[in-house]
Amino acid sequence: MQTHFLSRFSSLCLGLLLVSFSACAQQNSNARMIDQSSKNLPRTEAIPESEKVVKTDQEWKQVLDPQAYQVLRQKGTERAYTGAFWNHKAKGLYLCAGCDNELFHSDTKYDSHCGWPSFFEAFRPGAIRFEDDRSHGMVRTEVLCAKCDGHLGHIFDDGPPPTGKRYCINSVAMKFVENK
Ligand SMILES: [Zn+2]
Repeated sequence: MQTHFLSRFSSLCLGLLLVSFSACAQQNSNARMIDQSSKNLPRTEAIPESEKVVKTDQEWKQVLDPQAYQVLRQKGTERAYTGAFWNHKAKGLYLCAGCDNELFHSDTKYDSHCGWPSFFEAFRPGAIRFEDDRSHGMVRTEVLCAKCDGHLGHIFDDGPPPTGKRYCINSVAMKFVENK
């Protein structure tokens, strides 16, 4: 009888130990989140609701090619060094592939050696907006198109002067218009 009680008691202890162990593991995994969020974000300007481009998911699927849909609407990321613009040096404007919003000028593009097109400044404060992104065990700042809310990429604090910012943007989320 006593043995039975002891064995019940020890399994209870073991259970409690396991529960506290997994709670600990949970805490540790939160503590391990890498904070890559950009501090002191550049100023943005909200655009009027009437200028927003709003479509249903089904409509976006019809107007975007599958890779652009995956990045812009599903917050995907193209593989490094595979996009059309990471090594693109022509002069002109980069527009949102979803809504033609003017996002970045080639004058603010620089070679960050990260495999994605990188810019140190947005075309204008109303071009983009920011959101916290805590996916994939990292704390990052997401960059979105201010007009259609499409996911463009992320912003980091390791960019060159004068802003010190790196807008790390997916090629497939943009189209390019060359300066004539
Ligand atoms: Zn857009």
